[in-house]
Amino acid sequence: MLGLWENEAVSRPDDLLRSFAASMWRLADLVQVDERQRSFRAKAYRRAVWSLDDLTAGLEEPREKLLTVPGIGPGVASLIEEYRSTGHIRQLQVLDGQYPREVARMRRLPRANPEMLRSLKGHLGVETVDDLEHALGVGALTTLKGVGETTVELWRRILDLSPGPGMVPSHRAWSLASQMGEHLERHLGVTFSEAGQVRRVEDWVAWVDLVAGTDDLPGARRFLDLTAVASRSDPVDDGIYGLRTHDDIGVTVHLSPPAGFGTTLVRATGPESHVEEILPDATPPLPTEPEVYRARGVEWVPPAARGLPLEKADEVVRVADLRGDLHIHTDWSPDGRVPLEQMARAAGARGYAYLLITDHTKGLRFGGLSEADVERQARLIGKVRADVPEVAIFQGAELNIGPSGDLDLDEGALGGLDFAIAAIHSRFELDKEQQTSRVIRALRHPVVKVLAHPTGRRIGIRPSLMLDLDAVFAVAAEEGVALELNGHRDRLDLSAELTERALAAGCLLAANSDAHRLGELSNVENAVATAQRAGVTPDRVVNTRDLEALIRWVNGRQ
Ligand SMILES: [Zn+2]
Ligand SMILES: [Zn+2]
Repeated sequence: MLGLWENEAVSRPDDLLRSFAASMWRLADLVQVDERQRSFRAKAYRRAVWSLDDLTAGLEEPREKLLTVPGIGPGVASLIEEYRSTGHIRQLQVLDGQYPREVARMRRLPRANPEMLRSLKGHLGVETVDDLEHALGVGALTTLKGVGETTVELWRRILDLSPGPGMVPSHRAWSLASQMGEHLERHLGVTFSEAGQVRRVEDWVAWVDLVAGTDDLPGARRFLDLTAVASRSDPVDDGIYGLRTHDDIGVTVHLSPPAGFGTTLVRATGPESHVEEILPDATPPLPTEPEVYRARGVEWVPPAARGLPLEKADEVVRVADLRGDLHIHTDWSPDGRVPLEQMARAAGARGYAYLLITDHTKGLRFGGLSEADVERQARLIGKVRADVPEVAIFQGAELNIGPSGDLDLDEGALGGLDFAIAAIHSRFELDKEQQTSRVIRALRHPVVKVLAHPTGRRIGIRPSLMLDLDAVFAVAAEEGVALELNGHRDRLDLSAELTERALAAGCLLAANSDAHRLGELSNVENAVATAQRAGVTPDRVVNTRDLEALIRWVNGRQ
């Protein structure tokens, strides 16, 4: 198999296209930093990289032709014209001279505004994250204007979040896997599935695994020529190829004929111990995973539970066990998009029996429901209950826990809610003692039935709150407050490891989507996957209960 690989041309004929793609990706990173917040240009540039594979004549296409390709607008077309006549992009050269080389990995650090990032390079010669860590270590950062000890400490903690070099947070790996998979499907006509750590919903991913099913194995290797591929790694094995994307994420593509897709998928999903158990040497290739498990005489195991012994994996909670969602935003939240009625109907379509509406309240930095809004929303909920009778709608809120543990609505308004979830959205820097007593005080309030995203972490972006979790878990267990498993891929909060600890402390859990738009209702799959990794059984998850049992729990009779 190595021979085959070695005989292949290492670079594709139109190298110009690939180097343009790399430039566009780099430009997107820099524009995103330079324009601060959400940059639409950056998004458009990244999208354009994926569109380059639609250019039949490479960069030589005339402008009118370029503009017919989805994802290529006048701005990108002009950049293509500039690149093919001059061999570079002027704007990229300018920005490249101003910002550190690894700026994409630094831009989300708190207070890392464009001026700060420019002076990191200009004054301290920082180009890479290693350089930055060195500068932090020798105290060079505090020589910059506006940088104090607190910022230095926070940056250190954030840079320490990655468990190892090259590790990618779950959410980035996930979005790359879906984008890359769809791209392969569209250009090569393969069927695909994500596999490996992404499919097992691990917090951090060493590389992205994809399984591609096709009868044309030699033809499918053309994926190595796609513009989304920045470089090829060494071939891993026959039918298994390694590549790197423009943002330096490793991807392993496992090619398989459709007749063996299921077997390849089990193998590529791992982990090793599970594969050895399910696929003894003599197993013939089979097309689907359920067939593979049947052949072995066992039930199909959800990917996230495959790290568990088989008997235990058999008992874990499933997405189908959920009867409702206890963390839902509507257009009453500053960052919500969906009318309440639409959310209720979507929940009904998922087969839910109930829904807790949890819009943000006024203490949030961006604003939220006031006491008067709670009353107004009650009237709307009354109407939606009548219009969507198949789903029991509870009126709740995502209350902000203040610095001393108070909630941000007056007692009258709190008393009007059916029940609520509470969360920390501010003062992340408080010390362990203050942070812990703040959370505990909120847990003692009778309206609070769920502690949302308990540690406040965002994977690779924000460290966990400093909390005495044993104390928090003990009070949650005592009060019957459920700890949330938040299904946003950048949160996965609680993590699987902490979920195990919470279970041992006798806590109940709630697997929630925290949906702000309709598509995010399926975030519960990630919440359930986290529960599965921790070996959680359905009886410990409050929103697997039927409506009556849920109401019993809300009323304090667990
Ligand atoms: Zn929140
Ligand atoms: Zn929320």
